Amino acid sequence: MRAFQLVGWRRPLELRDVPVPEPGPGQVLVKVAGAGACHSDLHIMEAPGPPPGLATELPFTLGHENAGWVERLGPGVTGFTPGEPVIVYGCWGCGVCANCRQGRENYCQTLGGQGPGLGGGHDGGMAEYLLVPGPRYLIPLGTLDPRQAAPLSDAGLTSYHAVKRSLHLLGPGSTAVVIGAGGLGQMTIQILRALTTATTVVAVDTDAGKLETARHMGADEALPSGDDAIACIKDLTGQQGAELVLDMVGIDPTLRMAAQVARVLGHLTIVGLGGGALPVDFTSPPHECSVASPYWGTLPELMEVITLAQQQKIGMLVEHFPLEHAHEAYQLLHDGKIHGRAVITP
Ligand code: NAD
Ligand code: ZN
Repeated sequence: MRAFQLVGWRRPLELRDVPVPEPGPGQVLVKVAGAGACHSDLHIMEAPGPPPGLATELPFTLGHENAGWVERLGPGVTGFTPGEPVIVYGCWGCGVCANCRQGRENYCQTLGGQGPGLGGGHDGGMAEYLLVPGPRYLIPLGTLDPRQAAPLSDAGLTSYHAVKRSLHLLGPGSTAVVIGAGGLGQMTIQILRALTTATTVVAVDTDAGKLETARHMGADEALPSGDDAIACIKDLTGQQGAELVLDMVGIDPTLRMAAQVARVLGHLTIVGLGGGALPVDFTSPPHECSVASPYWGTLPELMEVITLAQQQKIGMLVEHFPLEHAHEAYQLLHDGKIHGRAVITP
């Protein structure tokens, strides 16, 4: 089968011919329908060496946002039938550490507090088939098209996890700011809209098209990134700042903005892996504003994300690219020209 593989650090990825994996005892082979191209893949491609928390063995197949159809069950596996559409939960923890036992496989302790996941050390879904370690990592999609649904497994799940931990702050009169309205940001806006009715959702981006999409997806305000956005958010919140600020970019200017628009006792949540530094002194971020950097999400949360999508409360703007055009998809993502999510369809 063909697989889009990282063969060396800072080397162009290659479409290589590799054997179709054979599902061993307990494993499941999935025929890939779609694999989302996440900005995290660009960070991996641009890294000089293995990023922290990533398995180091090369080559590996990229793609951690996957959905498809069950192809073959390994010996002993029950619960699924071939042909069934499924989405793949990607944080494959050890299953027995305290965090995994609590369902927080995204923070597996055996694997160093961060599950490596698939497509980041384990072979991912930018190939015709994907080997999954067990049926419990598969969630039935029902009537959802796996080519559309694939990004829900990361863009959807990561955004959901990041919002859910702060829901208690988002009552009437509250404000949530989403910095960066790309793949994750658009999901975050829709999830905020689906889970909160009273909160004012503010989107911030550098791209006018993304701002228009953000408005269409439920943002009450959509602001061009910069100092004017900071002033506008201050005005909107009576100079207090927002209860929740989600930085889906994570570079110096966005982190500075995040610190300035968060409020006392608020949450500043860094989701973007842009490598910037949050400026910290006694009054910034504001007093008792909690800062967190959540990673991906849990299996039960992915089930909730799928439910929201089945109820048509959230949905990704998807552009499809065949496997042989994966390079082009990533170039467009790098250039900021993907409107929602590029999904590779082997
Ligand atoms: P994307 O490229 O689809 O979206 C990024 C958006 O940020 C774009 O709309 C872009 O216009 C906007 N942007 C760029 N510079 C900006 C600025 N200065 N101000 C405001 N907006 C700006 O990327 P994505 O796939 O949505 O990923 C976003 C980030 O989240 C990436 O860094 C990715 O690695 C990270 N990520 C983190 C996790 C996690 O578990 N924490 C999971 C997935 C992705
Ligand atoms: Zn991702």
